[in-house]
Amino acid sequence: MQLNNKVAIITGAASGIGKEIACEYARQGAKVVIADLALEAASATANEITQAGGKAIAVAMDVSNEAQVDQGVAAAVAAFGGVDILVSNAGIQIISPIVDFGFEQWKKMLAIHLDGAFLTTRACMREMIKAGKGGAIIYMGSVHSHEGSPFKSAYVAAKHGLLGLAKVVAKEGAKDRIRANVICPGFVRTPLVDKQIPEQAAQLHISEADVIKNVMLKETIDGEFTTTQDVAQTALWLAAFPSTALSGQSIVVSHGWHMQ
Ligand code: NAD
Repeated sequence: MQLNNKVAIITGAASGIGKEIACEYARQGAKVVIADLALEAASATANEITQAGGKAIAVAMDVSNEAQVDQGVAAAVAAFGGVDILVSNAGIQIISPIVDFGFEQWKKMLAIHLDGAFLTTRACMREMIKAGKGGAIIYMGSVHSHEGSPFKSAYVAAKHGLLGLAKVVAKEGAKDRIRANVICPGFVRTPLVDKQIPEQAAQLHISEADVIKNVMLKETIDGEFTTTQDVAQTALWLAAFPSTALSGQSIVVSHGWHMQ
Protein backbone atom coordinates (compact mmCIF):
# COMPACT_ATOMS: atom_id res chain seq x y z
CA MET A 1 0.00 0.00 0.00
CA GLN A 2 2.29 2.74 -1.25
CA LEU A 3 -0.40 5.44 -1.31
CA ASN A 4 -2.39 4.65 1.82
CA ASN A 5 -5.05 7.35 2.41
CA LYS A 6 -3.52 9.75 -0.13
CA VAL A 7 -6.08 11.67 -2.18
CA ALA A 8 -5.41 11.63 -5.93
CA ILE A 9 -7.24 13.59 -8.62
CA ILE A 10 -6.77 12.03 -12.05
CA THR A 11 -8.12 13.82 -15.10
CA GLY A 12 -9.26 11.87 -18.15
CA ALA A 13 -9.61 8.85 -15.85
CA ALA A 14 -12.72 7.39 -17.52
CA SER A 15 -10.57 5.73 -20.20
CA GLY A 16 -7.17 4.42 -21.20
CA ILE A 17 -4.06 5.48 -19.30
CA GLY A 18 -5.89 7.63 -16.74
CA LYS A 19 -8.25 4.79 -15.85
CA GLU A 20 -5.36 2.37 -15.34
CA ILE A 21 -3.58 4.87 -13.08
CA ALA A 22 -6.76 5.41 -11.06
CA CYS A 23 -7.24 1.64 -10.58
CA GLU A 24 -3.57 1.16 -9.61
CA TYR A 25 -3.63 4.08 -7.15
CA ALA A 26 -6.82 2.70 -5.57
CA ARG A 27 -5.19 -0.74 -5.19
CA GLN A 28 -2.34 1.05 -3.41
CA GLY A 29 -4.74 2.57 -0.87
CA ALA A 30 -5.39 5.99 -2.41
CA LYS A 31 -8.77 7.71 -2.44
CA VAL A 32 -9.18 8.56 -6.10
CA VAL A 33 -11.17 11.26 -7.85
CA ILE A 34 -12.12 10.29 -11.39
CA ALA A 35 -12.39 13.57 -13.31
CA ASP A 36 -13.65 13.38 -16.89
CA LEU A 37 -15.91 15.18 -19.34
CA ALA A 38 -19.03 13.07 -18.83
CA LEU A 39 -20.21 12.17 -15.33
CA GLU A 40 -21.63 8.87 -16.58
CA ALA A 41 -18.29 7.62 -17.88
CA ALA A 42 -16.40 8.88 -14.83
CA SER A 43 -18.95 7.17 -12.56
CA ALA A 44 -18.48 3.86 -14.37
CA THR A 45 -14.76 3.88 -13.49
CA ALA A 46 -15.45 5.03 -9.93
CA ASN A 47 -18.01 2.21 -9.51
CA GLU A 48 -15.53 -0.38 -10.79
CA ILE A 49 -13.04 0.79 -8.18
CA THR A 50 -15.50 0.82 -5.28
CA GLN A 51 -16.81 -2.63 -6.27
CA ALA A 52 -13.23 -3.90 -6.08
CA GLY A 53 -12.99 -2.53 -2.51
CA GLY A 54 -11.32 0.82 -3.29
CA LYS A 55 -12.38 4.39 -2.56
CA ALA A 56 -13.38 6.60 -5.50
CA ILE A 57 -15.71 9.39 -6.52
CA ALA A 58 -16.53 10.75 -9.96
CA VAL A 59 -16.59 14.42 -10.94
CA ALA A 60 -17.63 15.95 -14.26
CA MET A 61 -14.84 18.25 -15.38
CA ASP A 62 -13.82 19.80 -18.66
CA VAL A 63 -10.19 20.59 -17.80
CA SER A 64 -10.20 23.60 -20.13
CA ASN A 65 -13.07 25.22 -18.18
CA GLU A 66 -11.85 27.30 -15.22
CA ALA A 67 -15.09 27.09 -13.22
CA GLN A 68 -15.48 23.33 -13.74
CA VAL A 69 -11.89 22.69 -12.65
CA ASP A 70 -12.23 24.80 -9.51
CA GLN A 71 -15.59 23.19 -8.68
CA GLY A 72 -14.24 19.68 -9.32
CA VAL A 73 -11.24 20.20 -7.07
CA ALA A 74 -13.50 21.71 -4.39
CA ALA A 75 -15.76 18.64 -4.63
CA ALA A 76 -12.73 16.37 -4.19
CA VAL A 77 -11.62 18.31 -1.12
CA ALA A 78 -15.16 18.21 0.32
CA ALA A 79 -15.36 14.43 -0.19
CA PHE A 80 -11.87 13.37 0.88
CA GLY A 81 -10.45 16.30 2.89
CA GLY A 82 -7.63 17.52 0.62
CA VAL A 83 -5.48 16.73 -2.42
CA ASP A 84 -2.10 14.98 -2.25
CA ILE A 85 -1.61 13.95 -5.88
CA LEU A 86 -2.70 15.43 -9.20
CA VAL A 87 -2.33 13.44 -12.40
CA SER A 88 -3.02 15.88 -15.24
CA ASN A 89 -3.73 13.31 -17.93
CA ALA A 90 -6.79 14.33 -19.98
CA GLY A 91 -5.95 14.67 -23.64
CA ILE A 92 -7.06 14.28 -27.22
CA GLN A 93 -5.33 14.01 -30.57
CA ILE A 94 -6.12 15.87 -33.79
CA ILE A 95 -4.01 14.89 -36.78
CA SER A 96 -3.57 17.26 -39.70
CA PRO A 97 -0.86 18.77 -41.87
CA ILE A 98 -0.11 22.32 -40.63
CA VAL A 99 -1.32 23.87 -43.88
CA ASP A 100 -4.78 22.33 -43.38
CA PHE A 101 -4.99 22.77 -39.59
CA GLY A 102 -7.97 24.90 -38.53
CA PHE A 103 -7.17 27.59 -35.95
CA GLU A 104 -10.12 26.50 -33.78
CA GLN A 105 -8.74 22.94 -33.72
CA TRP A 106 -5.28 24.23 -32.81
CA LYS A 107 -6.77 26.28 -29.93
CA LYS A 108 -8.84 23.31 -28.75
CA MET A 109 -5.70 21.17 -28.51
CA LEU A 110 -3.79 23.78 -26.53
CA ALA A 111 -6.82 24.44 -24.30
CA ILE A 112 -7.18 20.80 -23.27
CA HIS A 113 -3.49 19.98 -22.92
CA LEU A 114 -2.01 23.25 -21.63
CA ASP A 115 -4.87 25.29 -20.16
CA GLY A 116 -6.08 22.06 -18.54
CA ALA A 117 -2.67 21.38 -17.01
CA PHE A 118 -2.40 24.97 -15.73
CA LEU A 119 -5.93 25.15 -14.29
CA THR A 120 -5.76 21.80 -12.48
CA THR A 121 -2.26 22.60 -11.20
CA ARG A 122 -3.33 25.99 -9.85
CA ALA A 123 -6.40 24.62 -8.07
CA CYS A 124 -4.50 21.65 -6.59
CA MET A 125 -1.41 23.66 -5.58
CA ARG A 126 -3.63 26.08 -3.67
CA GLU A 127 -5.06 23.15 -1.68
CA MET A 128 -1.66 21.49 -1.19
CA ILE A 129 -0.11 24.72 0.13
CA LYS A 130 -3.08 25.31 2.46
CA ALA A 131 -2.79 21.77 3.89
CA GLY A 132 1.01 22.02 4.32
CA LYS A 133 1.61 18.31 3.60
CA GLY A 134 3.44 18.61 0.28
CA GLY A 135 2.19 16.93 -2.86
CA ALA A 136 2.96 15.30 -6.19
CA ILE A 137 1.92 16.68 -9.56
CA ILE A 138 2.31 14.43 -12.56
CA TYR A 139 1.75 15.54 -16.15
CA MET A 140 1.01 13.08 -18.94
CA GLY A 141 3.50 14.16 -21.56
CA SER A 142 4.57 11.91 -24.41
CA VAL A 143 7.61 10.96 -26.42
CA HIS A 144 6.21 13.95 -28.31
CA SER A 145 7.42 16.09 -25.39
CA HIS A 146 10.89 15.39 -26.85
CA GLU A 147 10.38 14.44 -30.52
CA GLY A 148 8.38 15.84 -33.41
CA SER A 149 6.19 13.88 -35.83
CA PRO A 150 4.43 15.04 -38.99
CA PHE A 151 0.74 16.03 -38.70
CA LYS A 152 0.91 16.52 -34.91
CA SER A 153 1.91 20.19 -34.61
CA ALA A 154 -0.47 21.18 -31.81
CA TYR A 155 0.04 17.94 -29.87
CA VAL A 156 3.83 18.17 -30.06
CA ALA A 157 3.81 21.87 -29.14
CA ALA A 158 1.52 21.23 -26.18
CA LYS A 159 3.45 18.19 -24.94
CA HIS A 160 6.72 20.13 -25.12
CA GLY A 161 4.98 22.92 -23.18
CA LEU A 162 4.25 20.56 -20.28
CA LEU A 163 8.00 20.14 -19.70
CA GLY A 164 8.28 23.89 -19.16
CA LEU A 165 5.29 24.01 -16.84
CA ALA A 166 6.63 21.11 -14.75
CA LYS A 167 10.00 22.84 -14.31
CA VAL A 168 8.32 26.01 -13.02
CA VAL A 169 5.99 24.08 -10.71
CA ALA A 170 9.02 22.18 -9.36
CA LYS A 171 10.77 25.47 -8.56
CA GLU A 172 7.75 27.28 -7.13
CA GLY A 173 6.48 24.20 -5.30
CA ALA A 174 9.74 23.14 -3.62
CA LYS A 175 9.31 25.32 -0.53
CA ASP A 176 5.97 23.57 0.10
CA ARG A 177 7.39 20.11 -0.78
CA ILE A 178 5.31 19.93 -3.96
CA ARG A 179 7.04 17.90 -6.70
CA ALA A 180 6.23 18.06 -10.41
CA ASN A 181 7.26 15.52 -13.04
CA VAL A 182 6.25 14.49 -16.56
CA ILE A 183 5.68 10.94 -17.82
CA CYS A 184 6.48 10.54 -21.50
CA PRO A 185 4.97 7.32 -22.87
CA GLY A 186 5.50 5.85 -26.31
CA PHE A 187 2.45 4.53 -28.19
CA VAL A 188 -0.09 2.83 -25.91
CA ARG A 189 -3.12 0.97 -27.34
CA THR A 190 -5.97 3.12 -26.02
CA PRO A 191 -9.01 4.61 -27.81
CA LEU A 192 -6.84 7.69 -28.56
CA VAL A 193 -4.35 5.58 -30.54
CA ASP A 194 -6.88 3.18 -32.06
CA LYS A 195 -8.58 6.21 -33.66
CA GLN A 196 -5.27 7.43 -35.09
CA ILE A 197 -4.30 4.23 -36.91
CA PRO A 198 -6.82 4.53 -39.79
CA GLU A 199 -6.34 8.33 -39.88
CA GLN A 200 -2.56 7.98 -40.29
CA ALA A 201 -3.05 5.23 -42.87
CA ALA A 202 -5.21 7.61 -44.93
CA GLN A 203 -2.76 10.55 -44.58
CA LEU A 204 0.25 8.44 -45.52
CA HIS A 205 -1.46 6.18 -48.09
CA ILE A 206 -0.23 3.02 -46.36
CA SER A 207 -1.98 0.11 -44.64
CA GLU A 208 -2.96 0.15 -40.96
CA ALA A 209 -0.46 -2.67 -40.30
CA ASP A 210 2.26 -0.47 -41.80
CA VAL A 211 1.23 2.45 -39.59
CA ILE A 212 1.77 0.24 -36.54
CA LYS A 213 5.01 -1.36 -37.72
CA ASN A 214 6.68 1.43 -39.69
CA VAL A 215 5.35 4.59 -38.05
CA MET A 216 4.30 3.95 -34.44
CA LEU A 217 6.78 1.28 -33.38
CA LYS A 218 9.53 1.78 -35.95
CA GLU A 219 12.01 3.45 -33.59
CA THR A 220 11.40 1.19 -30.58
CA ILE A 221 14.06 -1.30 -29.52
CA ASP A 222 11.72 -4.29 -29.72
CA GLY A 223 8.66 -3.37 -31.81
CA GLU A 224 6.36 -3.37 -28.79
CA PHE A 225 3.62 -1.06 -27.61
CA THR A 226 3.98 0.50 -24.15
CA THR A 227 1.10 -0.66 -21.94
CA THR A 228 -1.26 1.26 -19.68
CA GLN A 229 0.22 -0.75 -16.79
CA ASP A 230 3.77 0.37 -17.72
CA VAL A 231 2.58 3.95 -17.43
CA ALA A 232 0.58 3.31 -14.25
CA GLN A 233 3.64 1.78 -12.52
CA THR A 234 5.67 4.88 -13.45
CA ALA A 235 2.89 7.12 -12.13
CA LEU A 236 2.87 5.10 -8.89
CA TRP A 237 6.62 5.43 -8.46
CA LEU A 238 6.49 9.20 -9.06
CA ALA A 239 3.54 9.70 -6.71
CA ALA A 240 5.08 7.66 -3.89
CA PHE A 241 8.62 9.03 -4.19
CA PRO A 242 9.57 10.26 -0.72
CA SER A 243 11.56 13.45 -1.33
CA THR A 244 11.92 16.51 -3.57
CA ALA A 245 15.10 14.97 -5.04
CA LEU A 246 12.90 13.79 -7.92
CA SER A 247 11.24 16.91 -9.28
CA GLY A 248 11.20 18.85 -12.55
CA GLN A 249 12.04 15.68 -14.52
CA SER A 250 10.56 13.82 -17.45
CA ILE A 251 10.56 10.02 -17.45
CA VAL A 252 10.35 8.38 -20.88
CA VAL A 253 8.56 4.99 -20.96
CA SER A 254 8.65 4.05 -24.62
CA HIS A 255 10.51 0.80 -25.37
CA GLY A 256 13.51 2.93 -26.26
CA TRP A 257 11.76 4.97 -28.96
CA HIS A 258 13.30 8.07 -27.38
CA MET A 259 16.47 7.84 -25.30
CA GLN A 260 17.48 10.89 -23.25
P1 NAD B 1 -8.10 8.05 -24.05
O1 NAD B 1 -8.80 8.65 -25.21
O2 NAD B 1 -8.24 6.59 -23.79
O3 NAD B 1 -8.50 8.83 -22.71
C1 NAD B 1 -8.50 10.23 -22.64
C2 NAD B 1 -9.57 10.66 -21.64
O4 NAD B 1 -9.50 12.10 -21.52
C3 NAD B 1 -10.99 10.31 -22.08
O5 NAD B 1 -11.68 9.68 -21.01
C4 NAD B 1 -11.60 11.66 -22.41
O6 NAD B 1 -12.99 11.75 -22.16
C5 NAD B 1 -10.83 12.57 -21.48
N1 NAD B 1 -10.86 13.98 -21.91
C6 NAD B 1 -10.71 14.47 -23.17
N2 NAD B 1 -10.88 15.79 -23.16
C7 NAD B 1 -11.12 16.15 -21.87
C8 NAD B 1 -11.38 17.38 -21.23
N3 NAD B 1 -11.43 18.55 -21.92
N4 NAD B 1 -11.59 17.38 -19.89
C9 NAD B 1 -11.56 16.23 -19.19
N5 NAD B 1 -11.33 15.03 -19.75
C10 NAD B 1 -11.12 15.00 -21.07
O7 NAD B 1 -6.57 8.44 -24.26
P2 NAD B 1 -5.21 7.96 -23.56
O8 NAD B 1 -4.40 7.33 -24.61
O9 NAD B 1 -5.48 7.24 -22.29
O10 NAD B 1 -4.55 9.38 -23.27
C11 NAD B 1 -4.36 9.90 -21.97
C12 NAD B 1 -3.19 10.87 -21.98
O11 NAD B 1 -2.00 10.16 -22.35
C13 NAD B 1 -3.32 12.00 -23.01
O12 NAD B 1 -2.83 13.21 -22.44
C14 NAD B 1 -2.43 11.56 -24.14
O13 NAD B 1 -1.94 12.63 -24.89
C15 NAD B 1 -1.34 10.86 -23.37
N6 NAD B 1 -0.54 9.93 -24.15
C16 NAD B 1 -1.13 8.87 -24.78
C17 NAD B 1 -0.34 7.99 -25.51
C18 NAD B 1 -0.93 6.82 -26.23
O14 NAD B 1 -0.21 6.24 -27.07
N7 NAD B 1 -2.16 6.40 -25.96
C19 NAD B 1 1.04 8.19 -25.60
C20 NAD B 1 1.61 9.28 -24.95
C21 NAD B 1 0.79 10.14 -24.21
